[in-house]
Amino acid sequence: MVGCELRLAGVRVTIIERRTEINRVIRAFGLTVPTVEAFYRRGLLPDLIQARWTHVRRSVESLAKYPHPSPPDALPSIGAVGHFAGIMIPRDSVDHDDPDFLERGPAGEMMPISQQMVEEILTRRASAIGVDLRRGVAVETFEEQEDGVDVRLSNGERLRCGWLVGCDGGRSTVRRLSGFPFLGTNPEITGWQAIVDFENPEVLQPGWNRTDTGIYVFTPLTRRILIVEMDGPPEDRRSDVTREELQAALRRVSKTDITITSVDSATRFTDHARQASTYVKGRIILAGDAAHVHPPFGGQGLNLGIGDAMNLGWKLAATVQGWAPCGLLDSYTRERHPIGASVLDWARAQIALMRLDPLTESLRRIVSDLLCTADGATYAAKKLSGVVQKYDMPGEHRLVGRSAPDVRVGDQLRLADLMHRGQAVLIGPPELGKRAADWHPRLVHAESPDGPAMLVRPDGYVAWASDDQDDSTGLDEALHTWLGDPGL
Ligand SMILES: Cc1cc2nc3c(=O)[nH]c(=O)nc-3n(C[C@H](O)[C@H](O)[C@H](O)COP(=O)(O)OP(=O)(O)OC[C@H]3O[C@@H](n4cnc5c(N)ncnc54)[C@H](O)[C@@H]3O)c2cc1C
Repeated sequence: MVGCELRLAGVRVTIIERRTEINRVIRAFGLTVPTVEAFYRRGLLPDLIQARWTHVRRSVESLAKYPHPSPPDALPSIGAVGHFAGIMIPRDSVDHDDPDFLERGPAGEMMPISQQMVEEILTRRASAIGVDLRRGVAVETFEEQEDGVDVRLSNGERLRCGWLVGCDGGRSTVRRLSGFPFLGTNPEITGWQAIVDFENPEVLQPGWNRTDTGIYVFTPLTRRILIVEMDGPPEDRRSDVTREELQAALRRVSKTDITITSVDSATRFTDHARQASTYVKGRIILAGDAAHVHPPFGGQGLNLGIGDAMNLGWKLAATVQGWAPCGLLDSYTRERHPIGASVLDWARAQIALMRLDPLTESLRRIVSDLLCTADGATYAAKKLSGVVQKYDMPGEHRLVGRSAPDVRVGDQLRLADLMHRGQAVLIGPPELGKRAADWHPRLVHAESPDGPAMLVRPDGYVAWASDDQDDSTGLDEALHTWLGDPGL
């Protein structure tokens, strides 16, 4: 996503990827609203919808091959918007008229799509727009110079680049070699997620289950199993997960004689939670898991990475192209670090609530009651879907720092349609457009019959807004703050 955003802005990009092909191991499943919005704003919503239907079709085929005595609609998760530490958040209790859920346009819903499908869409996109994607070769070392970075690859090749963005995952080589402080908490649990076949699935209970030895989640529809044991991290975190290891853990936790006959895909995880204290150090930048790791509960890791990429892409492009206003690149850490920190909190709090002692059971009952209230369910649904995200940006208007409402533009279009090329958008009357004409082509202007006048940054966040479309107080300052000097 970082590569695509940079290329879209006209920057030459090379992606170095150690893997020869997309990682097929089961990981993320589900896009939050800011991620769906990001794809929508780049014209990729049809690809997401297509991927979603492919998933539905595969699930139905899988169900036909793999009937389970408990029908999937008996799952407690149906009728829930999600969960917090396994406590379901009832859909009926959520206030869907809350202003944060409104004005989102066609990208206003979370989408159940696998990480592989997201990576396939982005790979196609990268090739289509001319990103140089090199697979099967790794970054081994690099040296930062005053005017660039010299990178040495595993095949002995040397590359010279202006900037190096480490999107190389939780065990990031780029982060380690650059000495970014990576602060946080140590792991207490071992978790597994897998797609498996069973000999006797009827002994398992569908949905979330807590026993006195751990937690397991069984989803018959997708043959997915998630297991958590709370007695420390695994001794070996790098070896492949075996059928025997999964079966033994599931037997310990479910207290059944469950037998796993085959494993399609499996991964092991912990609740290791750490975050780089800054995301930019000289010409080295971190994004995604390289900048933050946390347990997967809450389904946020991939989404956090896409959000980093959207925030970083245009700012780094502006820096490379020489028109970035003072402090633009620094605003990447300032805006994204708090979002990452709140995701770490959300994930850590769930681990605390998953503990198996009687005190935690009492706490769970209280939290469960709170999550069933309208305020509690709405709060949790907003956190899960990401609609509460707000950047600390200068400006008083309620929209500043928030994802822009997808207002109508002209007869047929919406704001997102104007953002496919990654430009900023100024919405307002023609006089406003004239005031900002010098910033073209960094910015495009359009009129809208809806809502306030707005300056929307290339990442879709509102930089300035005025309820009175004729009042442009503060617009010039916002244009200079985010789009620099029009003469550059
Ligand atoms: C069990 C599980 C469930 C999850 N569920 C969810 C979920 O529901 N929702 C969600 O949003 N997130 C979820 N996540 C998290 C999500 O998978 C990660 O946050 C996401 O993969 C991070 O993307 P990334 O690109 O930053 O890092 P990665 O996906 O780790 O990609 C890093 C890439 O860098 C490459 N690389 C590494 N080192 C080098 C090098 N030196 N040179 C070249 N290439 C290199 C790797 O091969 C890899 O392809 C889950 C994770 C797990 C483990």
